[in-house]
Amino acid sequence: MNKLDAQRQKEIQQAEELLFAGPQALGFAKGLFQGHFVSDWVMPYPRIPAAQQVELDGTLAELRQFLDEHLDPTEIDRNADIPRSVFDGLGRVGVLGMTAPKEYGGRGFTQMANCKILEEIGRRCASTSVFVNAHHSIGIRALLLFGTHEQKQRWLPKLSTGEQLGAFALTEREAGSDAANVQMQALPSEDGSHFVLNGEKRYITNAAIADVLTVMARTPVPGSDKTSITAFLVTPDMPGFEMLEARMPKMGIRGTATGRFALRDVKVPKENILGPPGKGLKVALTVLDFGRTTFGACCTGAAKTCLRLAVEHANTRKQFNKTLGNFHLVQKKIARIAADAYAMEAMTTITAALIDRGLEDYMLETAMLKVFTTERLWECINDVFQIYGGSAYFVDLPLERMMRDARINQIGEGANEVLTSFIALVGMRGPGMEFKEIYDTMIKPTRERGFAKAWTAGKHRLGAAVRVPEIPVRSAQLRGFANQLGRLIWRFNVAVNRALITYREPILDMQLLQERIANAAMDLFAATCVLSRYDAELEFAQRNGNSSSLDHCAAGLFLRQSFRRIRHFLAGLTDNDDKSVLATANSILGKPGS
Ligand SMILES: Cc1cc2nc3c(=O)[nH]c(=O)nc-3n(C[C@H](O)[C@H](O)[C@H](O)COP(=O)(O)OP(=O)(O)OC[C@H]3O[C@@H](n4cnc5c(N)ncnc54)[C@H](O)[C@@H]3O)c2cc1C
Repeated sequence: MNKLDAQRQKEIQQAEELLFAGPQALGFAKGLFQGHFVSDWVMPYPRIPAAQQVELDGTLAELRQFLDEHLDPTEIDRNADIPRSVFDGLGRVGVLGMTAPKEYGGRGFTQMANCKILEEIGRRCASTSVFVNAHHSIGIRALLLFGTHEQKQRWLPKLSTGEQLGAFALTEREAGSDAANVQMQALPSEDGSHFVLNGEKRYITNAAIADVLTVMARTPVPGSDKTSITAFLVTPDMPGFEMLEARMPKMGIRGTATGRFALRDVKVPKENILGPPGKGLKVALTVLDFGRTTFGACCTGAAKTCLRLAVEHANTRKQFNKTLGNFHLVQKKIARIAADAYAMEAMTTITAALIDRGLEDYMLETAMLKVFTTERLWECINDVFQIYGGSAYFVDLPLERMMRDARINQIGEGANEVLTSFIALVGMRGPGMEFKEIYDTMIKPTRERGFAKAWTAGKHRLGAAVRVPEIPVRSAQLRGFANQLGRLIWRFNVAVNRALITYREPILDMQLLQERIANAAMDLFAATCVLSRYDAELEFAQRNGNSSSLDHCAAGLFLRQSFRRIRHFLAGLTDNDDKSVLATANSILGKPGS
């Protein structure tokens, strides 16, 4: 086996271990890749139970009042600091332990309700929403998900109220996008009572203000020469904890304290291990799934602010004797922001509900949500920036700050390129394995039990190839959209099958193809969420005799634009300039064979 093959085998083994723990219910996104519309996960549109809605409304009112009175995003950006009073206030409202169980001092909110809270903060100040995410969505998430009762009892009460703050430390110099390449070492002591940690972490939000950090480090696998990753709770008062740079100066989300630290022979008791030893990568990726959900909520909030600002300016600024809102090229931007903001909210709500309703494997949906909402928000900010013209460039308006703040979204918690490739590959794995079964049996018909498995796989593939899935909308008005969506899911499945049959194993490296498949899948998911929300709103409006036509225009527009994009992505699978793109890049990069 050459070095490349060995590396590929290692990656596949790691992925297998991480992703495919055992039989699980078919999720919505994986279903799409198999040509199914698993409607139960997405329709009807999820609603927060009435009793919890009352509690959420009360908390939102309290939060809004606090933010109106005490949050100054401009000052936070200028001073590159979020005042302690803001942390304390958020703690009092319950934001810092929103989803922690009540028995540990939290508010016991669902992920869906929590997303409404984050949307509200994301509307106003990205520094503050990233701080909250770093503390609550990822900082204390491993403790919430994988901590033992004793660990939760010991650590959570202070972390839930904000008396103590949390951080999540995965990234290192050699472990950025390649999260599995963590180099920080954790060696067990001879008596087994503790681990000794050595190494450095960088780009860690809240590192310098956190009282407890979830740190990923590499531990030996007992009885072998292998190593794997384990999650530890580390506190900065442990001897050997050295803050190398408390606040790395940066372009956006300047209020957050992004730091670098070293652990030098830090003794961490074995009681501080979170989750199973050696399963830290799975712990980390599950934690990030939660972070990506609230990322979606924060982007939704920011997109709504873009819409508000765009409308305000377009209705007041006059040029050529008309307000800007009279020009079609301005209208086009405003309509698109409205459509995208509607979709971002719908997608966030449905993804959060998947977690609340106990879908075990939601990594594809959270990855889709993260890529989709961060890319759309970037477009929204660019559009509203353009509508404001020269004034957007000056610091008395919030737009230049919003633009600087939003840029990290496409990089942090999984760069969008990495997640795009991940979406395509994990999604295609199901149908890919079925084709492999069929192919292996064809070339080796004597394989034991092979024929039966291949027959089942063949039936699945064939079934999906001839069946256009039905989309169960309730409103007759939406049947046309539902039929179009069903046909596009069918076309998507045919395209995935064709790509798998045509390219087989090399598809693993064909990122331009993967990007089109992932983009089509993301738009199919987004369109589904929009249709589900639109359907629920129409039903509600009919029952109550009113109609929110503004929102419905945006929903209809989103569906039209999304369907057009999906057709474009699928057409690009066969009609593209990929060879020329790669040849040009290779020749410029000085790659051999170009
Ligand atoms: C402000 C800020 C806050 C952060 N907070 C935290 C935190 O709290 N905790 C934490 O652990 N980390 C944190 N990070 C780290 C963040 O998650 C990483 O920056 C991110 O994962 C990317 O890693 P990298 O910066 O090393 O980029 P690299 O891995 O060097 O990647 C650079 C670029 O290369 C491309 N690329 C990389 N791999 C691939 C691939 N396989 N296919 C195609 N393209 C690829 C992508 O375009 C990517 O953007 C933070 C970073 C920043 C900037």
